[in-house]
Amino acid sequence: MIFIFSAPSGSGKSTMVNHLLATFKDTFELSISATTRPPRGQEQHGREYYFMSVEEFKQLLSKDAFVEHEQVYEGLYYGTLKSEIERIEGNGHHVLFDIDVKGGVNVKRLYGDDATAIFICPPDLETLRKRLEGRGDTSPEMIEKRLAKAEEELSYKPQFDYVIINDRLERATAELDHIIESRLKG
Ligand code: ADP
Ligand code: 5GP
Repeated sequence: MIFIFSAPSGSGKSTMVNHLLATFKDTFELSISATTRPPRGQEQHGREYYFMSVEEFKQLLSKDAFVEHEQVYEGLYYGTLKSEIERIEGNGHHVLFDIDVKGGVNVKRLYGDDATAIFICPPDLETLRKRLEGRGDTSPEMIEKRLAKAEEELSYKPQFDYVIINDRLERATAELDHIIESRLKG
């Protein structure tokens, strides 16, 4: 099965995904995307992302190596490699996607009922700003770009199977666990 997590940057997607990986042991694996953005903080190649140049990314595109890809921010490309999905399925795990809203909608369309698309929603834009600032690894210029994009991203909500408002973390993760357990039971 495929579980898709999409949201404006800073809404808590990574927090939610890490919660699932820790709670449901040996069940899920996170799809590691390719990106042309530089590593942030302690990020490592092959762990958070496959970091690459725009030239490398375009070469893979020309070889039809991606399930989907988006230019999420100006000049910054992100994409899911077909080889990554094969790797995770080969390990016998369900696939978790942490991808932007457009990518999320595309993957849902591609996998249909095999995919559960979950939109993580910030309580409001001011809280989103505080969380992005609090994370302390994104430049003020990138924070403004991400906030400017958030409103448009929120309009994609109705295209997802579930919307979780990430207000109190404990409440939001409990809601998520409930959704996941019911999907895994089929
Ligand atoms: P995303 O992956 O969507 O960009 P993160 O998971 O990195 O977002 O969360 C952004 C920041 O907000 C992180 O510093 C995280 O610890 C914090 N955060 C996430 N969820 C909550 C919450 N419910 N309450 C307070 N802070 C939160
Ligand atoms: P960040 O730079 O904060 O890691 O990610 C920026 C945005 O790109 C996030 O919304 C993230 O979910 C999205 N993203 C990461 N990987 C992919 C991908 O493979 N495809 C798409 N479409 N979006 C991605």
